[in-house]
Amino acid sequence: MNIEKTIENLKKNNMETFLVKSREEARVLALSMIPEGAVCAHGGSVTLNECGITEALKCGKYTYLDRNNPALTAEEKEEMMLRAQTCDVYLSSSNAITEEGELYNVDGNSNRVSNLLYGPKKVIFVAGVNKIVKDLDEAVVRVKTVAAPLNCKRLGCNTYCAKEGKCVSLVQGGNMPKGCNSDDRICVNFTVMARQRKKDRVKVILVEEELGY
Ligand code: SF4
Repeated sequence: MNIEKTIENLKKNNMETFLVKSREEARVLALSMIPEGAVCAHGGSVTLNECGITEALKCGKYTYLDRNNPALTAEEKEEMMLRAQTCDVYLSSSNAITEEGELYNVDGNSNRVSNLLYGPKKVIFVAGVNKIVKDLDEAVVRVKTVAAPLNCKRLGCNTYCAKEGKCVSLVQGGNMPKGCNSDDRICVNFTVMARQRKKDRVKVILVEEELGY
C-alpha cells in the first residue's frame, strides 16, 4: 500500500487530503471543518462510529440530521435522509480508495452514494489506511471479500456473503455488478469518484489506523 502516492493522486483529483495518526486526530480535524450551525448528516459507517464522530455531532453546535435517532418513525427517517441530500456537510467513509486517487463506493439503499456525488456543499471522508488498494480491480475485490460480507453480517442481511465470507460472484463468475439475488443485497449501485470539477468540495482524512471494513 502506497500512502504517499494515494494522497498525491487524490489531491491531483481535486480532493483535499490529509493524513493523521489516530482516530482522535481524525475526529478533531473533521469537526474543525464543520461550521457552527451547519446542517450535517452522514452515511452508515463503522469508521465514523469508531472515531467518535457520530457521537460528537450530537453536541448541539450543529443541526445534526440524526437518522439513527430511535425516536424517529420510518417516515421521519426517510424524510431526514431526503433532507440530507441538500445539507451543508456530509460525512462518510469509503469502501475503497485507490492509489490512483479514486474513491469506490457500493451502496444498497444508495442515499449515501447519491449524497457523495451531488448535493451536499461539502463531503468529508474519513478512512483508515486499510481501505487503500492498488487500483479499481482491487477495490472491487475488496468490497466483495471484506466490506460487503462484514457489513451484511453486521446488518443481519440474508446474503451469500454473510454466510460464506465472500460474494457469490467470485464463485459463479461475473464482473463488478454481478452478485446474489437476495432481497437483502447491499451491492446495488457502484460508484467511482475520480477527478472532481468542484475543487476541494471533497475532503479525505486518511488515518494511520485500521478502521471500519
Ligand atoms: S452481491 Fe450479495 S453476495 Fe455479493 S457481496 Fe453483495 S450482498 Fe454479498
